[in-house]
Amino acid sequence: MADPYHWIAGALETLHRAQWYRSPRPLGGLPGPVMLLEGRPVVNFGSNDYLGLAGEARLQQAAMEAIAQAGTGSTGSRLLTGQRGLHEDLERAIARFKQTEAALVFSAGYLANLGTIAALVGPRDLVLQDQYNHSSLKNGAKLSGARRLDYGHGDMAQLRSLLTKERPRHRRCLITTDSVFSMDGDLAPLPALVALAAEFEAMLLVDEAHGTGVLGATGAGAVEHFGLAGAPMVQIGTLSKALGSLGGYVAGSAILIDYLRNRAATWIYTTALSPADTAAAIAAIALVQGEPDRRRLLWERVEQLKIGLGETSGLKLLPSDSAILCTTVRDPETALRWSRQLQEAGFYVPAIRPPTVPTSRLRFSLMATHSPDQIAALLDTLRVLINVSSG
Ligand SMILES: *Cc1c(COP(=O)(O)O)cnc(C)c1O
Repeated sequence: MADPYHWIAGALETLHRAQWYRSPRPLGGLPGPVMLLEGRPVVNFGSNDYLGLAGEARLQQAAMEAIAQAGTGSTGSRLLTGQRGLHEDLERAIARFKQTEAALVFSAGYLANLGTIAALVGPRDLVLQDQYNHSSLKNGAKLSGARRLDYGHGDMAQLRSLLTKERPRHRRCLITTDSVFSMDGDLAPLPALVALAAEFEAMLLVDEAHGTGVLGATGAGAVEHFGLAGAPMVQIGTLSKALGSLGGYVAGSAILIDYLRNRAATWIYTTALSPADTAAAIAAIALVQGEPDRRRLLWERVEQLKIGLGETSGLKLLPSDSAILCTTVRDPETALRWSRQLQEAGFYVPAIRPPTVPTSRLRFSLMATHSPDQIAALLDTLRVLINVSSG
């Protein structure tokens, strides 16, 4: 008999040969601008912790109090024994923050997308999605069984022609998009998407994973940034990026949320968010709203690095309107080598390679808690590296 698991070693070998193999490395220390990697301090340009909240004392305090009062596990699904007052407090806080009627928290942003999309559309329906959408949006559409069509990244003319041709042939239509594209840092054209959705009687789902806490006058995200709060749409987000905790959410109309509580399998059949994560997220939203200076500092750091990268010859900066900046690198080997050399010099900057993205790049994620000196030192090191590499 042949070993039915034999193929796995071969598949791994193929990943190695294509330079697509990846493995996680443990970081040490509290989350922040400096962390320990392989025992050495590195300036961290890889975290989604944009406001520096994941290591914040007030979030820790809130989480510890919640553990003391409600324990570590939530013991069941929300519809059985898992529901706590904390969950309702968090959902009210998210709805206020997002200016929606209601909100619902999931155990992860990934699960929020899977459950929501699969509840909104089915086999008679159509999903139109940006080609660069996050994996959770694409897999949610797959799970729904709806017909799926990609439009080119941000290509509203192509989306319009797909809607014109295909919308009448389907019962419901759902357009899905990241608001801030996670591997590029650019924004979706939300005003045009809202207008097209209205014109063609389509639902619109916007994933604010990298917009929440970062964009908009109160940090509510790209929807607020574009002045679209109150427009009909389904907003998804995560508690685990700028909000420094763990979990995901959907924000929208009261009817939508009521429906999802009855129809979203990834909410119904999974254990409720833990008390610690829930309490930390409540504290995080209060800090985002109460300390706008964090956002101002973040944008100062983004501008500093953007200007510096723009002035560095030999680097091509991708368009960005977020706290994610990317420079393209000619091939995956160079991206990996530069990332490794930066690490040796004390900077953690991830190389992002195919198949995650079409072209290799270095991706820099900024934090409000980075110092101007840390960014200046990164730019100095990069310039030396590029000169050596091209000389
Ligand atoms: C990170 C991310 C998610 C997943 O959120 P988690 O809470 O980490 O599961 C979903 N969508 C986008 C665009 C993301 O970047």
